[in-house]
Amino acid sequence: MLGGGGPVVSADSVGRKADLSESRKKRVAIVGAGPSGMFCAAALLRSGKGVRIDILERLALPYGLVRYGVAPDHLEIRRVTRQFDRVLADGAVSLRTGVQVGESPSVEKLRREYDAVVLAMGADRHRRLGISGEDLPGSYDAGAFVGWYNGHPDFADRRFDLGVDTAVVIGNGNVAIDMARILGRSPRELAGTDLAPAARELLAASRIRRVIVVGRRGPVQASFTPVELRELTEMERAMPVCDASELALDEASRREAEALTGQGRAALDRLISYAVPVRAEAEAEVRIEFRFLCSPIEIVGRGKVESVRLCRNRLVGEPGDLRAEPTAETETILCGLVLRSIGYQADPMTGVPFDEVRCVIPNGEGRVDGQPGLYVTGWSAYGARGLIGTAKKHATAVAGAVLTDMQAT
Ligand code: NAP
Repeated sequence: MLGGGGPVVSADSVGRKADLSESRKKRVAIVGAGPSGMFCAAALLRSGKGVRIDILERLALPYGLVRYGVAPDHLEIRRVTRQFDRVLADGAVSLRTGVQVGESPSVEKLRREYDAVVLAMGADRHRRLGISGEDLPGSYDAGAFVGWYNGHPDFADRRFDLGVDTAVVIGNGNVAIDMARILGRSPRELAGTDLAPAARELLAASRIRRVIVVGRRGPVQASFTPVELRELTEMERAMPVCDASELALDEASRREAEALTGQGRAALDRLISYAVPVRAEAEAEVRIEFRFLCSPIEIVGRGKVESVRLCRNRLVGEPGDLRAEPTAETETILCGLVLRSIGYQADPMTGVPFDEVRCVIPNGEGRVDGQPGLYVTGWSAYGARGLIGTAKKHATAVAGAVLTDMQAT
């Protein structure tokens, strides 16, 4: 299990004597104890500049996406929390939980009280498909499903009907493949994960035998990593499959594929290998099927999800910038569960500028436009993309900007 659940450290609440050197120390508030906020705090501490850091978190427990987003069977990635535990154990850092910055305190108030304020709230809102039936019972966004199985308090009371035969996962990102894998795991595999206990119980009793992962573009444009794709071939009772016809490439995709190297090439090769079953059909209790060039146009059902209607797409544009365009060809897939995994967006925050088109807080290298002393890092700075290393690199650079600016004042 993840750490960071111990008593909240608060410099003020332990009544530390404010000696002169202490009162001269620069004070930084970090809003959000997710990976970006924690990496930023770690970098500020590492600088040795004697900065005091208050981390303000909305939830009762820290570590954001590492606790509530990273797949519960990816224990290796979750181990980064050990580093975060060390940050919180540092006497210069205090964590205040249950604090809703923007409402109380306002960002304005924080800016008055601290030498620098770093916003690291992430991007919680899931994008919408904007199609009929999207909100039928049985159709959920990935944030709710992933949050639920990871024990996120906002989703703990959600109920999912896993007594259905077929689930359709919309999207070809890392979150989509995480959910497909969790749905395919055997009870024994689930037992060795960080799943929330209630979710583990329900998933172990799941009757889902078909998981269909639907991408609006082709296999070359999917964002799966080779490691994620290999994992599917090593599962106890699930088998990835992809009909060879789904893997046929148009001319522009062929050119994109030829330019692929490293991870991208390895991922495509792995997807192509799915055309040959990795085990006998009879041995695969759960099939994880990959479909490409399809977009949902309607989720259908009387009172709950019964099917999803897809349209066939073709790709238009130049290699490297191909977009999906619908054709007149449609098909219907019978299913009882639809998981929509088409990415996240940040929400605007009172008193902070917001770019409504890119859904980010406008900034230059983490410095919020026109707001001296206010910084932003993580998904609310550059959009909901990138792996944990991306967050670390950005947060470390923003910590550098904070220190440079504080030194100049
Ligand atoms: P994502 O990577 O942005 O993927 C979103 C997927 O949804 C894409 O395949 C996109 O297709 C598709 N999509 C978007 N709009 C759509 C629409 N209207 N209809 C149909 N499909 C649509 O989002 P994500 O999977 O939520 O991941 C978010 C970030 O978290 C990513 O940076 C990811 O790498 C990271 N993450 C990392 C890990 C890990 O480290 N293992 C795990 C989970 C998440 P197009 O490509 O055509 O736009």
